[in-house]
Amino acid sequence: MDVLILGAGFGGLELAVCLSESLGDRVQVTLVDRNDSFMFGFSKLELLLGRQTRAALSCPYPSFVAPGVEFRQELVVSIDPRTRHVVTSGGTYDPDILVVALGADYDPAATPGFVHDGHEFYSPDGAERLRDALNEFSGGSLIVAVLSVPFKCPPAPYEGAFLIHDHLVERGVRDATRMHVITPMSSPIPVSPSASEAIVAGMAARDIQYTPGRRVTELDPSAHVARLSGADGRSASSRAEESLPYDLFVGVPVHRVPAVVQESGLTEGGDDGWVHVDRHTLATPFGGVYALGDCADAPVPRAGVFAEAAARVVADQIAATVLSRQPTLRYDGKGTCYIEFGDGLVGKVDADFLSGESAAASFVAPSLTSAAEKGEFARTRRQRWFGLR
Ligand SMILES: Cc1cc2nc3c(=O)[nH]c(=O)nc-3n(C[C@H](O)[C@H](O)[C@H](O)COP(=O)(O)OP(=O)(O)OC[C@H]3O[C@@H](n4cnc5c(N)ncnc54)[C@H](O)[C@@H]3O)c2cc1C
Repeated sequence: MDVLILGAGFGGLELAVCLSESLGDRVQVTLVDRNDSFMFGFSKLELLLGRQTRAALSCPYPSFVAPGVEFRQELVVSIDPRTRHVVTSGGTYDPDILVVALGADYDPAATPGFVHDGHEFYSPDGAERLRDALNEFSGGSLIVAVLSVPFKCPPAPYEGAFLIHDHLVERGVRDATRMHVITPMSSPIPVSPSASEAIVAGMAARDIQYTPGRRVTELDPSAHVARLSGADGRSASSRAEESLPYDLFVGVPVHRVPAVVQESGLTEGGDDGWVHVDRHTLATPFGGVYALGDCADAPVPRAGVFAEAAARVVADQIAATVLSRQPTLRYDGKGTCYIEFGDGLVGKVDADFLSGESAAASFVAPSLTSAAEKGEFARTRRQRWFGLR
């Protein structure tokens, strides 16, 4: 049986390794990605701070180790989910089982003015540009804004703000800087009021102004002014708050399903333009086609831990098909998210989105222990997927 996995990110890598482990040569697995290497989302924070180089943070796909899996660096150009016919820059595929794990793309142009006058740390290029801008920043108004929901890793904008604060303190320009975090969400981590409280308190302790429930809709690059609306994109009620000047604007760009997925018809019936999946099996409405991770509409945050857990469920579904047995796993939407609080401390949220009647999460206060756990989390994945130490 042929399995084609589109996307070698958190979800695709874990799925390929699981299939290799559980099915060996009973399946021929092809893993396709446009890039030559993988980088963890949280590594972009390291890049932003200039703590490590891009080369050191990249896991090259030629190091990918999973017997029976062939990696191909190709661009996916079309997907027909009805026939499972896939066209890439390298050829065509007609697999028995197709798994779409193409993640979320950014659409910075969706926020007028952002491409010209904004910065982001969600891509390696953006993180490097922002690193350079921060090194030259001599003070003024610095805004960190979430430009749309959903976005990858709900704690990341706050982690970015805390780490930028530390960086500016080290450079001796924090006293000359007003920091402001703006988000359309009503709280940082809605599933965990205690994590949200800790983040809000962390911002207050660092003199970072926090404005929830508001959306930056556009930048005026000539005046360096951000225009705000209500969370729903409608005009704010108070005119005095409709425009905010900035010297450095950092945004979490609008996220979208990749264009090739949008054009495939896989998003029909999906929540908010994402791929519609069965929340417990990750099956799409198309026979033999699954979608997992950031591109899918399973009601969980966009985060690697959730993509990885979903991959294990899809691996079990595929094993059940190949071995003619019943599936043994149901996707339960559980995952642990680590949150950088600065000063080397990391907090932790253990969330459960789907196994109970409603989503729930517990919070572990920032500590060096959780910082070490986060380091171990990355180390085990580098080892498992790439054989790297
Ligand atoms: C700053 C930041 C911090 C983060 N911190 C954390 C964290 O602490 N914990 C956590 O769990 N998550 C974190 N995340 C989120 C995490 O990185 C993503 O949620 C996760 O990578 C999603 O996995 P995925 O497999 O769905 O997609 P991805 O990992 O994005 O993989 C998708 C793959 O598809 C490929 N692709 C896309 N389009 C094409 C195409 N047309 N042709 C070929 N290949 C294509 C891409 O190159 C990519 O490799 C963070 C993200 C950011 C940006």
